This record gives sequence, structure tokens and C-alpha cells, in this order.
Amino acid sequence: MRFAKLVDYFERLEATTKRLEMFDILSELFREVEVEEIAPVVYLLEEQLAPPFRGIEIGMAEKLVLRAIAKATGVEEGRVATLYKKLGDPGLVVERLLEQKKEASARGKLTVLAVYTRLMEIAEQTGEGSVERKIQGLSDLLAEAGPKEARYIARFVMGRLRLGIGDPTILDALSKAVAGDRSLRPELERAYNLCSDLGLVARTLRGQGLEGIRAFRVRVGHPIRMALAERLPTAEEIIRRLGRCAVEVKIDGFRCQVHKQGDAVEIFSRNLERTTPMFPDIVEGVRRQVAAREAIFEGEAVAVNEETGEIYPFQVTVQRKRKHGVEEMAREYPLVLYAFDLLYSDGMDYTPEPYERRRAALERMIRPGDRLKLAEMIITEDPKAVERFFEESIERGLEGIVAKRLDAPYQAGARGFHWIKLKRSYKGELSDTLDVVLIGYFHGRGSRARLGIGALLGAVYDEESDTFKTIAKIGSGLSEEEWVRIRELLDRSRVSHRPARVDSLIEPDVWVEPRYVVTVLADEITKSPVHTCGKRDDEPGYALRFPRVVGWIREDKRPEDANTVREVLELYEMQKRVKLAG
Ligand code: ATP
Repeated sequence: MRFAKLVDYFERLEATTKRLEMFDILSELFREVEVEEIAPVVYLLEEQLAPPFRGIEIGMAEKLVLRAIAKATGVEEGRVATLYKKLGDPGLVVERLLEQKKEASARGKLTVLAVYTRLMEIAEQTGEGSVERKIQGLSDLLAEAGPKEARYIARFVMGRLRLGIGDPTILDALSKAVAGDRSLRPELERAYNLCSDLGLVARTLRGQGLEGIRAFRVRVGHPIRMALAERLPTAEEIIRRLGRCAVEVKIDGFRCQVHKQGDAVEIFSRNLERTTPMFPDIVEGVRRQVAAREAIFEGEAVAVNEETGEIYPFQVTVQRKRKHGVEEMAREYPLVLYAFDLLYSDGMDYTPEPYERRRAALERMIRPGDRLKLAEMIITEDPKAVERFFEESIERGLEGIVAKRLDAPYQAGARGFHWIKLKRSYKGELSDTLDVVLIGYFHGRGSRARLGIGALLGAVYDEESDTFKTIAKIGSGLSEEEWVRIRELLDRSRVSHRPARVDSLIEPDVWVEPRYVVTVLADEITKSPVHTCGKRDDEPGYALRFPRVVGWIREDKRPEDANTVREVLELYEMQKRVKLAG
């Protein structure tokens, strides 16, 4: 396929405000591309060159892209920068400058694969002289592209393609392209949950058909999409729901999915990024303490006081998140990985096995030692015992407990009642914090006018329709300086119209692509006619009362990892019950 053809699709996707239309356009595209092109096309649609766990990034900041544009168009750097200031979009800058060049019509012969390969080559440049080689590579590519193609290449390189397509929409469209409807979605999703690589799923489907998809198994090195927990307000409700169950301590640190293949160890985070370099101490511990040649298991890594054995608060653990000085940090605050689940070991796929068998095998696999420990656990059917275990955990400064269904498999990529969390914050208060996606903002009034921003429009995720529904206008919780910082950040994701996957009755002053997640504390959830979360026909939706931002942008969460409409409805019910009980 010519890259120009893909660009036509990008334009159509960009123009639509309807998610269903987006789905149709994508399925048409997936039918039209060749087998060997489909993975690159899926990655480009996801605005990446490869899945995040492979850690491949173009690595070109704004300045470098502008230099490449200058080189490709033969226009002086100063003029390019001025035009960029005016237009605010590197794509439009390069498009306009190329249009002004006379030989424009000779260009436009690039194929999708050629563009993808050349972008990969740019990404792979490292070490001495790599900056110049990246600029040269991009400038050569832009010089061969037609003006409109260059527009999308420049945007992609700067991380500003903003097509706003979610994984579920891509899965649905793949199914439609092959089967004519969405019927293959569950099987495609299963494969995706096991490999976290939509490009690989698409290529397998187009190359080997459904047989290939059905043959998908977990593999060491490919992160498995993580199982997530639901919540309930009390120990009694947990036991009523699960009966006899396992109750584990809930530790607040970094979730780690560890992959071991001989001495090679890789670690992936909650959002499936490769975080191995952050944990040299854990890597060493895995080599020493795991009694299996190959294994995939999960745990929570936290800083522990070696003298007293006490777990430090999250603020200490989080210091590990840095680029430099990790080794010193590892000496000063070594981490301990509290292992809680086993997914694979020496040829055996444990994901379909019940919790009890996974846990027993995990206990056999981890040798005693200082770096890896098992998350403490009891098995009980007595709500009082759960309550006691919870209180003890809280006294030790832990976050709470996670109760687990004894006969449940590992539910990759799903949030379900097979795992139920009970946290300190639910007790006595009406609700836990919620993670919302920012989809727009309002210009400030009064004293905020000066800052150019007065409130944020927040949304939750609706899994069923793969859309974002509004739940709150958030006007507090940030310092003046933070308001300015967040505005600058949002301005970089600004879009001219409501994105196709956003469902909103409210029109903010500025729409932004759903990208950033913030944690919000609220007094309660109320019914509201102005928000679309949970709204049906004539029924009102739900809103947060007195919402305020706590902390800063959640970098470990993608927009689809925000809380969901379903969870808000559950919290609303939970809040009613707590109110009645109080
Ligand atoms: P979530 O990860 O569920 O989207 P979140 O990031 O807000 O939500 P929490 O609600 O605090 O996190 O709880 C879930 C997290 O708790 C897990 O992702 C995991 O990192 C952590 N955790 C700690 N101990 C355990 C345990 N024993 N079993 C499972 N998860 C645990």
C-alpha cells in the first residue's frame, strides 16, 4: 500500500466525530492492507513503532524535528521556528513548506513499509553522532514525501498524530475485516491479553486465520495484560461474594511482572512498559531465588528497612523511579519483591489454573532469601478473620488486603470479582479516589483568568462502547504553578473538535485528546443531568461532588485504565449501603 493511501485513511479518521464510523473506516483499511503491512499499520494507528514493552521510541524532541524540516525543505531554521510558533503544528509547517517547492508533484511514491522501516531506522540510532543521524534520516524521509504525507510523518515523530483510537475499536475492526461482524472479538482479545501486541494479533489473524489466533499461548518475554481487582466496602460482603477465599496483604509499591529465561530477566510495569533497568536488585534476586529455568510471575516491589523489616511508605519506594543513580538508590533503599501470582513455569502455562494451584507452585518455586518473598496470605471463610487480617495490615502501614477466589484462573487483561480489594480509604469515608481522564478544560474566570485555565473536564471510561463519558468539572486541588503546567501539557494535546470517542453534553473551551489520567478525591457521587457517565435515555448520569485533584498526572495509567462507568455505578451503590449502615 502506498503511504499516501494510508494518509487518506488518517484524514478520514481524523474528521469523524463518531466512534462507529471510525470502526467502519478501520475495518475497510484492515481489509485493504497486505498481510506483511498490517502490523506496522496497527502500530502507526496506535501512535507507536512497536508495543511499549519493546521500548522503541523515535527519540526526537521538537527542536530536532524542526531542524529536520528545515533541512528537508531548504528553508532556514529561524523561519521554520517562526512558522511553527504561528501554526502550532509541525505537520502543517512541513506541509506548507513542501507545497511551496516546485517539484512537489514528483514525490509521493513511498510505501507504508518503506516509511515504517525508515522510522524504525531513525529510532534505532543510538550513541555518538546519533542525533545528527536521526535528523538526517528524518529529513531524507520528509524530502521524499508528498506535502500531505510529510504532515503525518512529522506529527507521528513528535507524538502528535492524535487519531484517538482505542484498542477495543481496533479489535472490533479486525474482527469485522475478516468475519464481517464483531464475533471474533473475544478470541482476538484473548490472544491480545496473552501477548500485549495488537500488531502481532493482527498479523496472525490475517496470515494464519482463526486457527493461528486460537493457538496463541503465553510466551516468556511478551508481557501478559495484568489481572485487576474490583472493590467491596466490607469484609462481610467479600465473604458473601467469595465464600472461603485467600486473603493477601495489599502492598503499595510497583507492580512487577517478572519474565525469566535462564539468566535473562525482564520486568514489566502495570502499563506493560519495560522497567527492568529500574530494578537491578530484583533482577539479581530473581536469578538467585527462582527455582525454575523459565518463569513468569507477579509481585509488588517495595522499599524495606533492612534493620527492622518494616515496609517503607510509597514516597520512599517511588524514589526508585529515576534515570540516574539507580544503583546507589538500590544500595540505600533496596527493594523486596512480594510475589503473589505465578503465570508460567518451565513449559507449564499456569494462567488457566485455579488460584490455589498457582499459589502452591509459586511457593515451591521461590527459594528463601532476602530479595524475593511471598506476599503473606491466609485462607478463611470467616469475615472476622478477614477483618483482623485487614486491621493488622493497616497497623503495619500497608494499604489493605486483596481477597482472591480460590478456584479462579488468572484473568489476563480483566478487572473482575475474582480479586477484591479492601483499602483503608473505603472505611468510614464514602468513596475511594477515582482516576479520571482529562478531555478538555475551561478558561479561568476571576483570579484564574490570568492562568488561562480554571477547571478541567474529567471523564471515565466506558468499556462497552470504548468511549469516554464525562463525570466531573474539576476546579481545585492544584497550586497556581501546577495549573499553568497542566494547561501547557494539555495544550500540546489540543484538538479542534470533540474527539470521536468522547461522549459529552458539556462543551469545554478547549478539547484535548483523552490521554492524561489524574486521581480525583470527591465527597460523593451524585446523580446529574449534565454528565454522560451512566446516563441512559431520560435517566440522569452521575457526577462527582466537590472533586479535587490529588497528586499529579498518573503516568502509569493509559486513558483506558481510568476508572470505568461500571465502577462508578458500583461505587454509587456501595456509597448508598455505607450511608444506610452509618
Ligand atoms: P488498579 O491497579 O486496580 O487499576 P490502582 O492502580 O488504583 O488500581 P489499587 O486500586 O490500589 O491500584 O490496587 C490494585 C493494585 O494493588 C495492583 O495493581 C497491584 O499493583 C497492587 N497489589 C498489592 N498487593 C497485591 C496483591 N497481594 N495482589 C494483587 N495486587 C496487589
